[in-house]
Amino acid sequence: MTGTTAETVTPHREADVVAQAPKQLFIDGQWVDARGGRTLDVVDPSTGEVLCAVADASEEDGWDALKAAERAQADLAALPPRKRSDILMRTFELIHERIDDLALLMTLEMGKPLAEAKGEVAYAAEFFRHFAEEATRIDGGYQTAPAGGSRFLVTRQPVGPSILITPWNFPLAMGARKIGPAIAAGCTSVTKPAAQTPLSMLALGEILSEAGAPAGSVNILATSTSGKVMEPLIRSGIARKLSFTGSTSVGRKLLEQCADRVLRTSMELGGNAAFVVFEDADLDKAVDGAMLAKMRNSGEACTAANRIFVHRSVIEEFGRRLTERMSELTVGRGVDDGVKVGPMIDANQRDKVDELVQDAISGGARVLTGAEALDGGGFFYRPTVLTDVPESARMRDEEIFGPVAALTPFDSEEEVVAAVNSTEYGLVNYVYTESLRRGLRVAESVESGMVGLNQGVVSNPAAPFGGVKESGLGREGGPTGIDEFLETKLIGIAMD
Ligand code: NAP
Repeated sequence: MTGTTAETVTPHREADVVAQAPKQLFIDGQWVDARGGRTLDVVDPSTGEVLCAVADASEEDGWDALKAAERAQADLAALPPRKRSDILMRTFELIHERIDDLALLMTLEMGKPLAEAKGEVAYAAEFFRHFAEEATRIDGGYQTAPAGGSRFLVTRQPVGPSILITPWNFPLAMGARKIGPAIAAGCTSVTKPAAQTPLSMLALGEILSEAGAPAGSVNILATSTSGKVMEPLIRSGIARKLSFTGSTSVGRKLLEQCADRVLRTSMELGGNAAFVVFEDADLDKAVDGAMLAKMRNSGEACTAANRIFVHRSVIEEFGRRLTERMSELTVGRGVDDGVKVGPMIDANQRDKVDELVQDAISGGARVLTGAEALDGGGFFYRPTVLTDVPESARMRDEEIFGPVAALTPFDSEEEVVAAVNSTEYGLVNYVYTESLRRGLRVAESVESGMVGLNQGVVSNPAAPFGGVKESGLGREGGPTGIDEFLETKLIGIAMD
């Protein structure tokens, strides 16, 4: 293991980490090339240059992976919970042993600053430890029927082979959050990471294999034709579950495909988080929280504060402090020392961010800082603060997914709660106030699966993560995360 801090990353070390990363498909415990030999390029978003090529799965490869998962299902389900737990705990340990290499690989393929990549790797590892502990605690029940006589024996069984589809913005953690509970519950899986960031998940496949995951229990494939490869597998009925993290538009399409065979689904979809600062908030803490909620992952997070509502009496001061902090951020390659904001994932995403910013400005928003793309080979956007963002601006409804803080004043609690809820999304909202009574009242009134009360980050492997409305179905992590991969079975017992 090599110690990596931003100062020690040399071009040679970057090349070395990429050279050592697995680049084939992981199917039935084997590393294989795509049938037909297709490959897809992985691009470093901080330079726009190709990092490497990885195997590009065809429909046949998809079938191979799903059939391997089907064959391995009975054995994985029969593996004692303690053994499944041991695989997960060993995975946790191996991830930590390789944290520096995994973080560097992630920074290279996705762009986030190295310190944040390291944070994500540790966060991903934690899902394996959490579910290692949950694997041995799958419980059931025994109950006398209300009318007496018979008994209810309730047991829980794995759902079966599962298809897991993950986005590019958290290349390792979103997969860990699914594979961890799947193994804990005894479900085999086929994971498809986003084509833009396959390297982190493929590296996880290598670790899971070393940790003792039985052949076929975990299959991982990258493909440039995700719809073509995945749709027949989803519609086949061989898989019994789809767990998806990504945009609401793709999630909707996949839900339709799942309807064919009535698959169990978990859907972690898009967000449009509001960040509300009341007049009695501790402004220093609120600015710290907004920096986290907005700038974590360079703004490319489903939990990112998309709409920042600040009480009219403090918006000027809040805007001044936030602008100071945002304009101090160093933008650059995530491997470079001191960089706090990496590139957008690609040119399309950078251009979309600019389009939303220009749209808000044309509707009357004022620029406090930023509001421009940066020149050069990478896909950089300058950290931006806009104020007086009007209700008509597209960014009030659409995910910005970039380093843009959009401030709007409000006058009353009633008005702001209505504004927070005027979106089809419902993933997370943030509330800053020193009044516990108001904090809880607002937390209960806003329509979202999660609320950060005086805190700018809510994700934790030990807590249930997920949204309501069009932000999704189901919860990942926490004590209930494993339930997504378990069926409840009733055995009714006659006693007379
Ligand atoms: P996306 O375009 O929906 O893609 C997500 C995944 O779905 C990728 O692996 C993608 O593969 C795949 N995909 C796309 N079309 C597909 C199809 N027809 N059939 C099967 N798979 C398909 O989302 P993204 O741009 O990668 O990620 C950003 C979105 O994810 C944002 O909306 C964000 O809010 C959301 N997100 C939500 C959470 C949460 O927990 N709620 C967490 C993180 C991100 P390819 O790209 O390779 O085609």
